[in-house]
Amino acid sequence: MSARADGFDAVVVGSGPNGLVGAVRLAEAGCRVLLLEAADTLGGGLRTEELTLPGFRHDVCATVLPLALASPAFRALDVAGEVAFDHPPVPCAHPLDGAPAALVLRDLGGTAAGFGRDAAAWRAVVGGTARAGFPLVDTLLAPLDLPPRAPLAAVRYGATGALPAAAVARLFRDAPARAAFAGMAAHSILPFTAPVTAGYGTLLAALAHSVGWPVVRGGSQTLADALVARLRAAGGEVVTGCRVTDLDELPPARVVLLDVTPRQFLAMARRRMPRVYRARLERFRYGPGVFKLDYALDGPVPWRDPAVAAAGTVHLGGTFAEVAAAERDVAQGRHPERPFVLGVQATVADPTRAPAGKHTFWAYCHVPHGSGVDMTAAVETQVERFAPGFRDRVLARHAMGPAALEAHDANEVGGDIAGGAADWRQFVSRPVLARDPWRTPVPGVYLCSASTPPGGGAHGMGGWSAAGRALRTL
Ligand SMILES: Cc1cc2nc3c(=O)[nH]c(=O)nc-3n(C[C@H](O)[C@H](O)[C@H](O)COP(=O)(O)OP(=O)(O)OC[C@H]3O[C@@H](n4cnc5c(N)ncnc54)[C@H](O)[C@@H]3O)c2cc1C
Repeated sequence: MSARADGFDAVVVGSGPNGLVGAVRLAEAGCRVLLLEAADTLGGGLRTEELTLPGFRHDVCATVLPLALASPAFRALDVAGEVAFDHPPVPCAHPLDGAPAALVLRDLGGTAAGFGRDAAAWRAVVGGTARAGFPLVDTLLAPLDLPPRAPLAAVRYGATGALPAAAVARLFRDAPARAAFAGMAAHSILPFTAPVTAGYGTLLAALAHSVGWPVVRGGSQTLADALVARLRAAGGEVVTGCRVTDLDELPPARVVLLDVTPRQFLAMARRRMPRVYRARLERFRYGPGVFKLDYALDGPVPWRDPAVAAAGTVHLGGTFAEVAAAERDVAQGRHPERPFVLGVQATVADPTRAPAGKHTFWAYCHVPHGSGVDMTAAVETQVERFAPGFRDRVLARHAMGPAALEAHDANEVGGDIAGGAADWRQFVSRPVLARDPWRTPVPGVYLCSASTPPGGGAHGMGGWSAAGRALRTL
């Protein structure tokens, strides 16, 4: 690793969206920044690779990026001016057996109308959050920044958002709205009886209406590459293939930002931590894993309901009760026979990711933490249920269970894609309960990964907030 004789102002370890955003914020503020990345490629959860066949570009992790588009960090960096966000005609579809799919459209009114007698309930639960716009998003993604930009909207959001999804779903009478809400809430990877699961569902549905659920043209890697270019343009240095195992390996720097989870931080700095902080970090809990399949397809997915063909994201799992049962199984350490499957057809929005006429598709389901079970058959059975003939379109598939995901990115501990369980306790204490959770008791060292507020997702806000605090120190 190239150490400058006079050291760096800041060393950033890890090049996920949080590490990259933190590095860019520091470098553009005039700091001399060194970014170290364990993998041979940059981007962490934003990497795109030809996982199946030449010409098919698959996002290994994050693809659907409403959080990036809405994030105060990415807005401040004006990334929307540097990469193209492509919107599918329909943000999200939730197919149902023997009935038209539930559709979450960009348009709040059109979505509510599609839910018939649940229109008013959808407007009440999701509409207020969608209409509150960026001030509320800023308050939720930077929850410790005072004063909050939208305190009243945040209180209104919290009144339902703090509840279990199962409680809020009772406001909906019919299967389509209940199922659509279940699909949104399932992104929390928590059982629907858990507090705050309604909040995840409400925010994601509201983002579909307010900013959409776009993908980045060419793959999420394009967004990572744009941030790396910004870092280099501001004088930042970048080293790949450099796994940091001990803070003593780092060159001299006034501050260090770690885009890693508590487990790696403990391994790097255990001796330097006060006993109480170390014990609190050791209590940090990781959540369930995911089992992901990437497909190269000969044509579009043959959905039984043609409306689903226009959706970027497809939630496959049937009714609210079925999705709830699948998530309950996972929380209790079981592999659901009929898992809730999150599908993404990125080529619907961005055809550049596959050769002409061909498509990419990915599908993952939640599994118990560290599971070694091959879920391919269970996932494909759910896809075939709503798209008979799907398997005939498959040219090649690539599977990654928890171990493969963690090998790809050490932050995906046991296949946990959110940097730690996101239940209410770790919602308020991430990674520990503190007014400034990014700052650690190791002098000059900040955590900035998804294990810090506001948690998982490609929003870069952990990096943005940690860098803001580090700049005050500098
Ligand atoms: C399958 C999957 C699908 C997802 N889909 C979406 C989606 O559609 N939309 C969305 O918003 N989010 C999605 N996510 C979540 C999103 O990818 C993560 O929440 C986000 O990438 C977290 O960012 P981060 O910067 O905290 O960490 P990461 O992106 O995980 O980056 C951490 C980086 O640090 C590096 N690193 C770790 N340890 C060390 C070390 N010791 N030394 C040096 N480098 C190290 C890693 O190699 C990695 O590059 C998905 C995740 C997965 C796995």
